[in-house]
Amino acid sequence: MADLELRLDRLDHLPGAMARTAAKDVRSLFPESALITLEGRNKQPLFVSALVHGNETVGWEALKKLQAWMAHHPLPRSLIIFIGNVRAAELQTRMVPGRPDYNRIWLGGGNTPEHRLADEVKQIVKAANPFAAIDLHNNTGANPLYALVHTDDPAHLQLNSLFSPHAMLTHNPPGTCSEAMSAFCPAITAECGHSGVAANEEAAFNLVLDVLHLDHWRGAPDRPLDVYTVQGRMLISPDAAMTFEHGAPGDIEFPASLEKWNFFERPAGSTFARLLNGGTPLRVETETGQDVTDICFSREGDRLVLKRDFTPSMLTVNEDAIRADCLGYLMERTG
Ligand SMILES: [Zn+2]
Repeated sequence: MADLELRLDRLDHLPGAMARTAAKDVRSLFPESALITLEGRNKQPLFVSALVHGNETVGWEALKKLQAWMAHHPLPRSLIIFIGNVRAAELQTRMVPGRPDYNRIWLGGGNTPEHRLADEVKQIVKAANPFAAIDLHNNTGANPLYALVHTDDPAHLQLNSLFSPHAMLTHNPPGTCSEAMSAFCPAITAECGHSGVAANEEAAFNLVLDVLHLDHWRGAPDRPLDVYTVQGRMLISPDAAMTFEHGAPGDIEFPASLEKWNFFERPAGSTFARLLNGGTPLRVETETGQDVTDICFSREGDRLVLKRDFTPSMLTVNEDAIRADCLGYLMERTG
């Protein structure tokens, strides 16, 4: 994969034409990934990343709002902005087919041009002694705003609480941008719901603005916060047919309203799915790949029943998303 040359451009301003530029046209302004350093009153910078996934436009739109705001307000704190996977943004896809996912390249030690790019960004950000790091993403499925956080350190939880009352404490998947940044400063992945929704873009912008104005970490959440740990991700066998319609043929049947369970606790003993042809079409796997299906589910007749109280998240009925990633996660509340 050494065929691709990836360059990191450095800028000290946001181009004026951003206001009129859609995320898919990002390469007209940023032909390559870029780091933009903006100086503010407090010199310890906030790191914000956008378009780490090319079709998740919330970060780009939030930066446009920030740019408009900056026209009338001095920047209270310095910023380092990373414009991520511009090639995927141009294609309006999560990543460029056949190339690494830009949110799996941050562990260090990889040998692709994408890994080297992430290493370069990480070293620059680390050297700047960042105040906090926010990676802005969208997702599929009906989820409330929530964030991924990587330690239960109070400052990290405070950052999470500025965005959402839901915190998912996780090290999975490995190699995410926010987990790498969490080694230097409070860091979250802000999951801002569906792309293209004005309220989600506003929430992302407000988070950035709040942190820019924050003077220091108090060491406690600012608002009530539910912290969840992930028991496992639910995978559907590639050869199993799934259905979201009662009575339709398939191997495993879920309710059409499956996504409504996201971030609502499902009690032990409740039915999660129906197995129409026996077999084991659904598997639950921990972040290290351990099979924990039997810890999470039991079978009662043709029903797959939860063994413990679980809060699902990122459930989706989008079959492409399920096949490419997973059905969703099972979480337990820890705080
Ligand atoms: Zn994403």
